[in-house]
Amino acid sequence: MTTKKAYLIGSPVAHSLSPKMHNLAFSQLKINAYYEAIDVQNDELQEIIQSFRRENFIGANVTMPHKNNVIKYLDELDITSKLSSSVNTIVPKDDKLIGFSTDGKGFIDSLTTYDVNIKEKKILILGAGGAAKSIIVQAALDEASQIIIAKRKNSSYQDTINFANTVTNTTNCTIKVIDINSSILEASINESDILINATPIGMKENDTSIIPAKYLNHNIIVCDLIYEPNLTPLLKSANDLGCKTINGKYMLLYQGARSFELWTGNKMPIEIVKAKFFS
Ligand code: NAP
Repeated sequence: MTTKKAYLIGSPVAHSLSPKMHNLAFSQLKINAYYEAIDVQNDELQEIIQSFRRENFIGANVTMPHKNNVIKYLDELDITSKLSSSVNTIVPKDDKLIGFSTDGKGFIDSLTTYDVNIKEKKILILGAGGAAKSIIVQAALDEASQIIIAKRKNSSYQDTINFANTVTNTTNCTIKVIDINSSILEASINESDILINATPIGMKENDTSIIPAKYLNHNIIVCDLIYEPNLTPLLKSANDLGCKTINGKYMLLYQGARSFELWTGNKMPIEIVKAKFFS
């Protein structure tokens, strides 16, 4: 029987844990499929997506910088990827390629590992890129009571306000946008239950915390989507204050598990994958 193919497309992808995760899950469930990461540049994207229509294709993940660009080559989108304009999972169905965004669900699933439920919580999220938008849409659909987006006041600020208005009108959640560098950031953090860093600040060795430590209080749960390093400067200052802190490690696991289920109809053997790669 022919082996089905799954891919991660993006650039860079060499460091990704996804092939190991999915190949272990395929072999555990005796699914004849193989997952491979391929480095894809912008000018190669259309051709790669076309090849998915011809191949023995089971599904793909999409990562930076293609989460938005890929949309124009797909046939349909689920509600989260439509509202967030971000696709991290492609699923073939009846000769069509359908885009999904599992980042938001993966993040919210990861919180349950720490007994955190976002229902009726006030959330402040730093950044408004693909991962942030997927989390915002999912949190709004899952009945967070309020979401404040703090982002730089640059050319995409108005687009973020438009996005916030669209999600507010589609869900029961109030979403507003503030300038990350304005004086209301501290008060906005103070009125929130959960703070999420969805910017890349904290990944590099010499990065300092994205916000001053004095803006935090010990009651707030502080999350960072970054998992390498596992303790970013933001999480370190939150830990020092005694806050509950959560990094992006299990988001990676659970967004992958959601993709796996969309491709195969089977639950990923989470505990086996977790024990092997996430302990
Ligand atoms: P993205 O689409 O490039 O968005 C990045 C966001 O960060 C943008 O809103 C950008 O602001 C903001 N930003 C960048 N530099 C900034 C700075 N100096 N000050 C303030 N804001 C800044 O990236 P993404 O895909 O959403 O990823 C964001 C982070 O999440 C990355 O660290 C990524 O590794 C991580 N991530 C983790 C997982 C996981 O499974 N754990 C999954 C996805 C992403 P502008 O809007 O102003 O440009």
